[in-house]
Formats: sequence, C-alpha cells, structure tokens
Amino acid sequence: MNKKLFLYDTTLRDGAQYKGISFSLQDKLKITKLLDDFGMDYIEGGWPGSNPKDEAYFKHAQYLGLKHSKLVAFGATRKPNTATGKDPQLASLLNAQTPVVALVSKFWQYHVKTVLRTETSENLKMIYDSVDFFKSRGREVILDAEHFFDGFKDNSDYSFQCLKAAIKAGVDNVTLCDTNGGTMPDEIATIVAQVKSKYPQLSLGIHCHNDCELAVANSLASVNAGVTLLQGTVNGYGERCGNANLISLLGSLLLKPSFNQNFSLNPKIQASQLTTLSQKVANVANMPLKNDAAYVGNHAFSHKGGIHVAAIAKASQTYEHIDPALVGNQRDISISELSGKSNVLLQAEKLGLDVSQNFSQVLSSIKSLEQNGLTLENAEGSFEMLVRKHEEGFAPLFTVENIQITVTNLKRSSELDTELCTASVKLSVKNKTTHMVEEATGPVDALNRALKKALSNFFPQVEQMLLTDYKVSILDPENASAATTRVWLQSGYGDERWATIGCSDNILKASTQALIDSYQLFLIKFQNNGMTSASDTDSQHINLDTNNSHQEVQNNGNL
Ligand SMILES: [Zn+2]
Repeated sequence: MNKKLFLYDTTLRDGAQYKGISFSLQDKLKITKLLDDFGMDYIEGGWPGSNPKDEAYFKHAQYLGLKHSKLVAFGATRKPNTATGKDPQLASLLNAQTPVVALVSKFWQYHVKTVLRTETSENLKMIYDSVDFFKSRGREVILDAEHFFDGFKDNSDYSFQCLKAAIKAGVDNVTLCDTNGGTMPDEIATIVAQVKSKYPQLSLGIHCHNDCELAVANSLASVNAGVTLLQGTVNGYGERCGNANLISLLGSLLLKPSFNQNFSLNPKIQASQLTTLSQKVANVANMPLKNDAAYVGNHAFSHKGGIHVAAIAKASQTYEHIDPALVGNQRDISISELSGKSNVLLQAEKLGLDVSQNFSQVLSSIKSLEQNGLTLENAEGSFEMLVRKHEEGFAPLFTVENIQITVTNLKRSSELDTELCTASVKLSVKNKTTHMVEEATGPVDALNRALKKALSNFFPQVEQMLLTDYKVSILDPENASAATTRVWLQSGYGDERWATIGCSDNILKASTQALIDSYQLFLIKFQNNGMTSASDTDSQHINLDTNNSHQEVQNNGNL
C-alpha cells in the first residue's frame, strides 16, 4: 500500500517574508480559501504572538469554514527559565484556537548557547514543557526543529536528546528544518534515514530553504528516506532565496512514477489545478509568476528552435517531460529567426490561419524582420498581421497617410515648465480621409489618442480597445542616442490580449508600427464578433462631433 504524504503550506508565514511581498489581512484570507479549495492538508496562517495582523487573521479564519485544511498557528517554545503558564507567546498561540500548533525549537547546541544564551539542558526542558502544554490542551503539535541538519552534523547526540524530549511530551510530528538551505540532498537523505532508524514510529516532516536551489530536491530526497510531512510555499516564496516550492514539489510527487507509485496524497489534490493555484496566489501576492517556473510557467512548455518544434509536432515527449495539460498548462510555440516550418505552421494553426499556400514567403519575411530587430517571439499579434498581410486579397482596413508630432515646452522660465505634445494623424479608409489632432503630455500618448480618434470616425468600436502595456528596449546601446529602439505593446479588449511590436532608430516610428498593427488586428478580430464592421460604418458613422475643437474631418479625401 502507498505511504500517505501530507502537505503543509507556510506561504502565509515563511512565504510572507519574501522580499517584495506584503500580504494584507484580506490577502491572507483569500489565499487560505484557495489552499483549502486545492486540498492542502495544513495551512500555517501566521504567528499570532508576533503582530496584530496575524492575531486578527486567526479570529477571521475561524469563520472561513475550511473543508479540507487544518489551520496551524505558528510560534516558538517557551522562553528560557519561564513557566509555560506565564509565557504570553504561548497564550497567544492558544488564543488562536487552531486545531494544530507548530512550535519552532532549537536543535543546534551552538545556537542554544550563542543566540538563545541558555543551557542546553534548559533547551531540552523548553521543548518538553512547550509540547506538553499544547498536547495537554488537546492540540496537534508539530515541532519545527530549527537548524536540524547543522545541529546534527555538529553534535548528533544533542539532536537525539531534543527529539527524545519532544517524543516524551507526546509530539505528533517533528519537522526537520534546513534553515540555512545549505545542506546537500545526499546529506539530507542520510541524516533523515538515521533519525528514522532510531525512532521508526516518529512522524517526520521536512522544511527546506532554497539557498542552493535544492529545496525541492532536498524535500524529495527526504521523502525517499522516510519523511511524510512536506512543508513549503506556493511558488517557493520565502526568506532569502525562498522555501521549497510546493507547486514543483507536487508536480513531481503526483506525476513521476518513482513517487506516485509509492506514495499517495489527499485525493482532493489534483495536478491539473497546479497552474491555476500558482497563478492565483501570484496575483494575490502581486508577484508576477516567473516565466521559467517549472511545470506552471509560461515558458515551461515553450519551444523555439525549429528542430525541436518539428520533433514536438511528431512526438511531444521528445522535448516535453510531461503533457502540459496534466498540470493545467499549455504548449507555446515561439516564432523567431530560429523558427522552422513547424513553428510557423503550429502557431498559425493555433490562430486559425492557413499558411500552406504562402509558407515560404511568410518564413522569409519573419527572418528578414528579425534581422532588423523585430523579434516576433513575444508578439503573436504582429505574427498574425504578418501572416494576414501575405494572404491573397489582403487589404488593410485603413491606411495612415501622414503623422506629425510636435513637442512644445510651455512656461520655460517657470520651475513648473511642462511639455505639451501634439500629434496629427491623417488616415484613409477606402476613399475617405480623416485628419485628427490630439494633445497629451507624452508623444506616444498623443499619437495613440489621435490615431484612435481618427479611426473612431470609421470604426467606433476602437474606443473600447485599450493599451494595457508598453515596453521599450534598446537593441544597440553602443549607438547612444542613435540606437535602435524596439517597442512592444500589449492591447486588450475584454479578457483578450495581443502583443505587437515595432522597431526603428526613431522611437515614435517604432511606436507607430506597433500601434497600427494592433489597431488593424483589433478591427480584423472584432469586425465579425458582434461589433460593427468597417463596411457597415462607412455610411452611418462618419458623424462629425463638431463640439470637439481638435477634430478636423473631411470625407472627400482632399484634406
Ligand atoms: Zn523557514
């Protein structure tokens, strides 16, 4: 029979110590619900004795009605030479009213002497008394053995004495912590096996840090050596380099035969939910999910090299260790100068386009654009426009005739001087021409406003398209102010997003290219999607708003 493993999430306590993360009370409650829905066995909510937010969290969390998870309050063993009943920190832990209490305790005699500044014998009493205090009050007690591996290598006798004190007091689980994250997988496996052989009945846990990027590997090594409770955080958030990433850990535990044939997890936990959980927690944490995150990142199943993509099309297991759908992720085919036929065909197919008739022209256009710095890799919108431009009978829905941008410095003598940018756009749709002038504080914003205003006379739906992201990168910084600029912009309508790019030694020209492609694509995408089509608008919507002083439109094409 498979050995049961338990998962212990500390995103809300250790994960909250990750640089850049600051969970509000609401954030913590939201993550608690996500973890419970996912089927996490234990959720460590915080340290109630350490700050008012965590105390408030435990008050609110009682009413969340958790269905799958046990809530854990985290704290430390009692203070040296203090009775348990007189230690306010233990009282706050008790007041948190959780079914489980986790107590961090010192297992390294060096730490006991130099930091705790007490006798090693007093530390043993602190472990015994604190475990006993919560056990006698009906709590499940997990003892986090801080610096366990450093302590064991320094003096294993003392580590065993600490374990014995905890067992004597009735501890439910002792979690061995690689607090500094410096232990190697073979050391972890050897030490865990030694502890397990000395105390075979003791439930052991593992808490690894990622300072050598081994937290997941160390956790897996410890499972093979006898550990049954795994601590970690979603996306590996945690102090310094983070904690063991539960998402990657679960990917391997659930999908790799060496684990799923020997161990079992709470059946509520499904690998297919990993990508969603990872993204949702990243959203609450306001930390963008790393593209190269194992199993769940955007690039985890991304293929760029033409030879790889050709192989993937024939047999996906050649360059994918699992089917991306198993973890709720998806395959991504990149388009770049490394592309071969398969990249272009697969990406076109994904967009519902047929390139079979003009494949070689499309591929050579991609390669020549990329030679000039136009990387289509993260710009599927520009790729789609490129393919469409090669389709037989393609005609752009609008043509930009002329663009002028001026920057005027206002109140030059004043300390409050500001620039005013004016963009003038002349464009035509079939035989009708419009000319718009718009102002803004920045030139790209003025350009976008003028373009949108001009287009809205023919295609009112463009008012609903939004610019959602804009990034600029310099391709050849050695050319200083004459450097080539690549502009990447993302546009959106509803939940849909698409990215386009432009490239030039003139940043405004690069922005114009990206904007025009984006508007063209929006109009192609949405003219057949319940929105008014361009041909419908020609007769009805060239309805001039004479109240707008910037608007100058003529319908005769003679402006
Ligand atoms: Zn930790």
